[in-house]
Amino acid sequence: MAQKILQPGDIGQHEPFPTIVLPTDRQLFANRARRFEHLARGSALGPLLGAMAHIAHAQQRAFDARPAAPMADDVLAASRGHGMPALSFQAERDTGWQADLDVLLDALASCGETVLQDAAARLAAIDAAGREAIADAVFGGGIAGDDPEAHAMLSPLVGAALQVWWTRQAGSMKSEDIGLVGSSTVCPCCGSRPTASVIEIAPTQHSLRYLHCSLCATQWHMVRVTCTSCESTKDIAYYSLNGKDAEGPSTRLAFARAETCDHCHSYLKIFTREKDPMMDVLADDLATLTLDMLVDEAGYLRSGPNLLFSPGVADGE
Ligand SMILES: [Zn+2]
Ligand SMILES: [Zn+2]
Repeated sequence: MAQKILQPGDIGQHEPFPTIVLPTDRQLFANRARRFEHLARGSALGPLLGAMAHIAHAQQRAFDARPAAPMADDVLAASRGHGMPALSFQAERDTGWQADLDVLLDALASCGETVLQDAAARLAAIDAAGREAIADAVFGGGIAGDDPEAHAMLSPLVGAALQVWWTRQAGSMKSEDIGLVGSSTVCPCCGSRPTASVIEIAPTQHSLRYLHCSLCATQWHMVRVTCTSCESTKDIAYYSLNGKDAEGPSTRLAFARAETCDHCHSYLKIFTREKDPMMDVLADDLATLTLDMLVDEAGYLRSGPNLLFSPGVADGE
């Protein structure tokens, strides 16, 4: 049998892999809802995860209700030229997300979960300016108004609607629409912080680590053993529920770990998809809150939010 003759340049070359993976799964929220339902069964966090399943189902309903708004070529070209995310959450906000919120609230009004139905009714009675104020707080930290309890109740629903609008828009883009934004710690599409990262198993992404945007669900590549907040490659450590781990080829990686950085004292979770291929970043993040508590106690501050639960987490910048 003829052997392939090595050509100059062959050695050290790898299969090309995508640096950005856009959210093209049109059933993303329905799949997430099923994952929440699966995780809720037999979990001490069952009631919380079950409520989240209702929110994700409502997100899918809102997502399906309308197509993405067209994005002008000159806007896309300008953002590429300036190294700015085309869907920056810091730019003037398109009010289209409020239409998504209306569908979401409508779906939750009949979901059968009293807490969610109450929250949906309260939010439905708030005018557009009041909703924008809550959205500002979701992005900027802090609370809207002077009632922390009310904000904690309403902001996850606002965060859920913002995710619907941004995910639909990001899913309508093409990879070539997206330029480099200068930092790999924020989403190249919208500039948001990631919720967590995942070591992937898909053929072209095998064993590579991707960060998952907390807002638009875009994934982007970042090398492993690097702080996702300050990009330091020193002083990185890993915690699982069994305590402090080592990262290395000989280590059996736990499904969920917290990657901590002693340079900026932040952490973010890193999941190993091989251990549970059906995982969903947002759902599994909430199902592993015990790990957050462990790492918080060790003195690290979480660097990226989960908009369904902990809006306003310090952005680590
Ligand atoms: Zn994003
Ligand atoms: Zn760091």
